[in-house]
Amino acid sequence: MVSEVKQQARNWVPVWSASRSRWIQSCPRRYLLQYVAGRGGRQVLDRPRRWLWKQGRWAPANELLKRAVKDTLRAWMLDAHAGICWSINTAHCEMERRFQRSISSQQDEMAKLQSRLQRPTALYRTPTPDSIARLLEDGDLILRRALNHPLIGELLSCRFSGEWQPLDPFELSRTEEGLAYLTPDLIIKGPQRWVLIRLLSDSWKHLPDAAREVELLGMVKWALEEPTLPDSEESYEIARISHSKKKGWRTWRRQVKKNDTEILRQMIRSDISAARTLVRSAGPMLNLDRIPLAEKKWRCKDCGFRFTCPGGKDMESAKLLQAAAEQAYVNSKA
Ligand code: SF4
Repeated sequence: MVSEVKQQARNWVPVWSASRSRWIQSCPRRYLLQYVAGRGGRQVLDRPRRWLWKQGRWAPANELLKRAVKDTLRAWMLDAHAGICWSINTAHCEMERRFQRSISSQQDEMAKLQSRLQRPTALYRTPTPDSIARLLEDGDLILRRALNHPLIGELLSCRFSGEWQPLDPFELSRTEEGLAYLTPDLIIKGPQRWVLIRLLSDSWKHLPDAAREVELLGMVKWALEEPTLPDSEESYEIARISHSKKKGWRTWRRQVKKNDTEILRQMIRSDISAARTLVRSAGPMLNLDRIPLAEKKWRCKDCGFRFTCPGGKDMESAKLLQAAAEQAYVNSKA
C-alpha cells in the first residue's frame, strides 16, 4: 500500500483548469485532496481515490441544479447541431432526470461516507420534495429564457443558418505549458472573426472580472492549437453568455488582441509550478497535515471535504496545528 501511494504521487501530472487555478489559491488542501489524492477518481476502480473524488464533487442542491441545467443545454445543443430539435418539454424532462439522478447518487455517497465515519446522524439533510420542486421551477425558467436569447434561442430551435459547433469543455488540451482544460462550449464563425463562447448557467455578474477574463482567453489558446482554425489571436472574439436570476441571459464579448494570451500562459505556468511545489511539500505519502487550509472560513461551507477535514470543524485550531506541522517539517529539513 505504501509503495502504491508513492507510485501514485510520482505518476501525478498537473492539469490546469480555471477551477483548479482558483482552488490552488484559495485552499491548497482541497486542491491536493481532489486533484492529486483523488486524481482520475471518475475512472479508477480503487476505492480510496474514488471516494475522495466523489466526496470533493459534493455540492448543495442548488449547485446540482446548475450542473443539470448546463448539461441539459449541452445535450440540447448537440442534438440541435445534428438537426434534432427538442421541445421545451423534452428539455425540462432531461434536466429533471439529470437533477434527480445527481441528488440520489449524492445521497447514496453521503450515506456510505456516514457509515465509514461511523456517525450516528446524517451528514447532509435530504432536500424536501418542496425544495426540489422549487429548484426545478428555477431550472425551467433558465431553459425557457435560453430560448429567448437572440443567439442561443436560434441555435436551440435549429434556426441558425451559419457555421457553428458545440464542443466538449472536458476535453483535455496539450499545450507547451502543460495539460489544460481550455475548450470553449461553442464556436461560431462570424462575418469577420470566429467567436469562442463560454456558457454559464448561473452568474451574479455578467461582466467578468480581470481574473475571469484571463481564464476566458484559454479558449483562444485552444483555438490557436487547433490545426483547422486560424493561428492568429486577432482572428477571434471571446464571449461569455451567462444567466442571472434577476436579469436572465446576458452576453459579454470582446475582440482578442495580439499577444493577449501571453498573460494566460503565465497564469498556467505559475499555477502548474505552484501545484508541483504543493505536491513536493506533501511528500511521497501525501502528508496533508502540513498543507495550508482555506484562507477564508466561508470556503468550507460548500466543500465536500468539510466532514473529514479539520478545517471544516474548527478552522482556528486546524490552522494552528497546520502551522506547527509545517514548522516541524521545515526544522527537520534544516
Ligand atoms: S473543509 Fe475548508 S479547509 Fe478543508 S479542504 Fe474544504 S475548503 Fe479546504
